[in-house]
This record gives sequence, structure tokens and C-alpha cells, in this order.
Amino acid sequence: MRRVTVLVVLLALALAGCSAGQGEKDDAVVAVYPEDVAEQPAEAEAPEGPDAEELLTQLDLVTDFRDEFDHGPKDAEHQRYIVLHDTEGEGSPESVVSWWSSSGNLVAAHFVVGRDGHIVRCVPLDRIAHHAGYGDTGHNEAFGITEDGRDDMAGATPIGPSFADYGMNAWSVGIELVHVGGSGDYPPEQLEALDGLIAYIDAYYGFESEITDHKAWRSGNSDTSPEFAGYLANYQDHRTHD
Ligand SMILES: [Zn+2]
Repeated sequence: MRRVTVLVVLLALALAGCSAGQGEKDDAVVAVYPEDVAEQPAEAEAPEGPDAEELLTQLDLVTDFRDEFDHGPKDAEHQRYIVLHDTEGEGSPESVVSWWSSSGNLVAAHFVVGRDGHIVRCVPLDRIAHHAGYGDTGHNEAFGITEDGRDDMAGATPIGPSFADYGMNAWSVGIELVHVGGSGDYPPEQLEALDGLIAYIDAYYGFESEITDHKAWRSGNSDTSPEFAGYLANYQDHRTHD
């Protein structure tokens, strides 16, 4: 509390100096301020939520970052959505990542969650992955994505022949669930892993990103599958599958 009081007094002094036009007094205030802050003991602030690195260690997760999947920076200011997908294949997360790499399309999500709860991450959270792209007409406005790309994306790794990045990619984290639509329910191990992964992402950013799925953004896509609809509603309501 003392620091706040000192800052208020200093601000008052600074304002008084400005209004009086006394340049010498302003200099004196500036000289005092950093010394005073440096003398303050470090205040122990209570953590506001779970520690991201601790949550990360609780996941069955391996890291396999691939440079070709990295389409440029995405800081917390540009993080708004977690977009869920189905792979529409049954292979392991490792095989999904290998397939993306061999395709040469530069397509990937940040995470792939296997049916047994095993997770591979192949793009860092603070980098853009190409997993969602353009949405339906009008969805930029509906989702609050007001331009096709981001103004600060010039010079980022191109996707295809002309785009630095575009649509949802520049504003989201992508998670692929190994699942084939119509094949039945998602295993509890996979859903529990997704619960933990979302908790980690929330803790990493310090806020709750909006959870959606690929077909909500682009209706031509089938993922996530109809079997996921109830789980998606639960995630959107309280961030766990059940
Ligand atoms: Zn998808």
C-alpha cells in the first residue's frame, strides 16, 4: 500500500509542477521516483490462478515443434479463440504430425490429442498455426475478426502463394482430436486430456479464450463431429467435457 501512496504523492507533485510550469521541480520528482521504487521490498503477490508450467507437467505431452508449421508471432493480445477439430483419421498424434509435414501444405494445429490422452504439440502457443483459415461469409464480423489477416503480419511466413496469414489462424489456438465422425463416442482418456490441455492454455494466457469448433467457423467443414456437440456445449459453459 505504501507504494501506492508514494505514487499518488509523486503524481500530485508532478501535476503541481506541470501546472506551475516549474521545470526544475519536475526534474527533482523524476530523480526521486526510481530510487524510491528500488528501495521497496519485493511484494509477495498471491498467484491469481494455477501455474501453467505445473499444469503442463500433468499432461501426457511430448513436444515436436516444426519450423514449417510456424506462421509467425501471436502474442496474448491476438489470442481470442480455442478452435477444436477432428482429424478424421485414427492414427496416433505422432502419425498425424508426420502426415501434415509430408503433405507440404504447411497445415497444422498447435496440439493433437490422441484417443488414449497422449498429446503432441508441434507449434508453440505464441506462434500462429494454419488450422482454420477463412470462415463463412460474415464470420469475420460475427467472430470479431475484422480483417482477413492481421495488420502486423507483414513479413510472416506465407501460406500458399499470396497470404501471410488470414482469418481465424491469426487469432486462435488449434487443437485436433484424433477422431472419425460417425465412429462413436470420444474415449474418456481423450476428453480428460482435453480438459487438462484447455486448463493449461487458460493458465498460460491468464484468461479464458472462447472455445469453438472448426465447423462453427466454416460450415463446409465437418469437424468437430456431431458426437462432440454435447461436450462442446459443456466446454463452452464451464471448460470441461462433463
Ligand atoms: Zn478442422
